[in-house]
Amino acid sequence: MNENKYYIETYGCQMNVSDSELVANLLEKNGYSKTDNMQSADVIFLNTCAIREKAEETVNNRLDSLHFLKRRNPNLLLGVLGCMAKNLKDAILESRPFVDVILGPDSYRKIPEIINDRKQESSKHFVDTKLSKFEIYDEMFPSRKEGINAWISIMRGCDKFCTFCIVPFTRGRERSRSIKSVVKETTQAVSDGFVEITLLGQNVNSYKTPEGGFADLLGEISKIENLKRIRYTSPHPRDMTDDVLDVMSKNDNICNYIHLPLQSGSSRILKRMNRTYNKEEFLLLCEKIKTYLPNCALSTDIIVGFPGETDNEFRETLDVVNKVKFNSAYMFKYSSRPGTKAAQYSDQIGEDIKQSRLEELIKTQKEITNKINIKCIGKEMQVIVEKESKKSCSQWAGRTEGNTWVIFDKMNFNIKDTVTLRIHDAQGITLFGTPITS
Ligand code: SF4
Repeated sequence: MNENKYYIETYGCQMNVSDSELVANLLEKNGYSKTDNMQSADVIFLNTCAIREKAEETVNNRLDSLHFLKRRNPNLLLGVLGCMAKNLKDAILESRPFVDVILGPDSYRKIPEIINDRKQESSKHFVDTKLSKFEIYDEMFPSRKEGINAWISIMRGCDKFCTFCIVPFTRGRERSRSIKSVVKETTQAVSDGFVEITLLGQNVNSYKTPEGGFADLLGEISKIENLKRIRYTSPHPRDMTDDVLDVMSKNDNICNYIHLPLQSGSSRILKRMNRTYNKEEFLLLCEKIKTYLPNCALSTDIIVGFPGETDNEFRETLDVVNKVKFNSAYMFKYSSRPGTKAAQYSDQIGEDIKQSRLEELIKTQKEITNKINIKCIGKEMQVIVEKESKKSCSQWAGRTEGNTWVIFDKMNFNIKDTVTLRIHDAQGITLFGTPITS
């Protein structure tokens, strides 16, 4: 008997990676097994992202390239999941009628029912993109591959409504899982062999339950035995409260690392973005973080060329970057998303200006990262061994708690070991170390 097979391709953020693991679990419970060869799959899902125009284009091209599989096998179930499904369902239905299923991020529980119904009527289309105020998939644990880090989704949705962002419309309102359920899933992940977890949420530190907030959750998770490292992403600066920094400073297994999205260094642009903090408040927050956590590594997200951004306002962003000295940054040109407030602003910035600002910002950040990394030479740092170095099969690659990759000789170390290294070289974003053996 032929076994039913599924294939999932995931685009966009880590929330989608985590959601794909949930969907995989649902499919496996319904008798499907995973395949890495989409040509042999009975069910193909693309879990999509709508955050940038480019991500949508990629999925549309991918769907077109999959049309031939549908022609060859009319029983194949081809589905679009995630943010793009929610945002562009009508466009997909019209332009790509060979897509069988369109499900938004809150509709994945329907998958078993859909698969069964389709067995009765293979030409039926299913569309459900309704957002829920309550869906948190609380008791549905994901199907994870063996690995180092387990992504654990703790809250869904966003109430912040930044004017450039489509997420509040595609993922709905903020809602959090219970502390008990997150602790249970983390304990399970550790007993399955994961040594690190990353707590995930669109605004992870807006986590709120009747039993406690994000700091309480971190405190409970940090007590789990054999969990070497706890990370979280992405927090919102507005919700980065003292109790979170306090619990981080008191628990060694919570990484000294915060990804703190700046977006812009200009107070006027931040206001236009509806980020709810200004330049000075962001700088003060970074100082406060360094008071609680003196060696805390910081990374950030920055958008250049937001509508109306003047050259001086862009220089304000460079000023914050130079003052805070982020270890690393994800830097983007503003991408207009239909349906958002910022897309309606009449003072959009030309592509050439956005490009030159992005290049200048990247150059500035690269120099800062280089300087920070060169300062690491001679220092002792701990890494967890994660994988073989891409450049040499006799070397391992591991990450510091500050999220920097370090390459070192394999010696007798194994994947998942914690190794103390003396850093002897820094090249670009990578460090090179020598194991300190006693
Ligand atoms: S905080 Fe802003 S950028 Fe982040 S998901 Fe919410 S609306 Fe989007």
